[in-house]
Amino acid sequence: MLMIIGSGVLKGLGVTLKTFLETYPWGRAMLRVLGIAKTDGLVTIQYPDEKQEHSERFRYFPFLVYDGTPDNLRCVACRICEQECPPQCIHIVVAKDEQGRPLKANGRTLPKQFDIDISICMSCRICVDVCPFDAIEMDNQYELSGYDRAGEMYFTKEKLLKSADYFKSIKPTEAAVVDQRLAAKKKKETPG
Ligand code: SF4
Ligand code: SF4
Repeated sequence: MLMIIGSGVLKGLGVTLKTFLETYPWGRAMLRVLGIAKTDGLVTIQYPDEKQEHSERFRYFPFLVYDGTPDNLRCVACRICEQECPPQCIHIVVAKDEQGRPLKANGRTLPKQFDIDISICMSCRICVDVCPFDAIEMDNQYELSGYDRAGEMYFTKEKLLKSADYFKSIKPTEAAVVDQRLAAKKKKETPG
């Protein structure tokens, strides 16, 4: 029994020693020479000189999708995402005419203002999941640090706009599913 406990303690100490040695370049080199480690033991990369490859599913903050040109937003200002966003960091103002009626273009209501306070956003993706129009998607841009929280971390509509082609370039699999869904919807809505 004592032997079993003793070997467990020794094994644990060995792991601790190996981890300790791996924190130093000379220690990693020594472990490689001894055949204990096959790699240099580093798990981090030399950021920002090196950038990590992301999987398609990696997500950071949302963006608004447009088709073709930025004036052709998919968003119809239904405000569902604004209501469902857990930390309430989406702010939408519907464009209205002089009589206070929602302004429409190509049969769609437009957001006059669509802002996301990304300093509050928790990247949960709920806004994407609840949007009935596939108008908002998750971006993978993470180099967004700035000096001014109120200004640089508050994304207005202009800053949130990105093309459907951009979406395809960062998330081709998801974009293909969205395209299929939109095509099916269009077919259903087309008379005849
Ligand atoms: S990802 Fe989540 S927290 Fe961020 S805007 Fe969308 S719903 Fe809100
Ligand atoms: S992004 Fe989608 S859910 Fe949000 S207001 Fe626009 S259409 Fe509605």
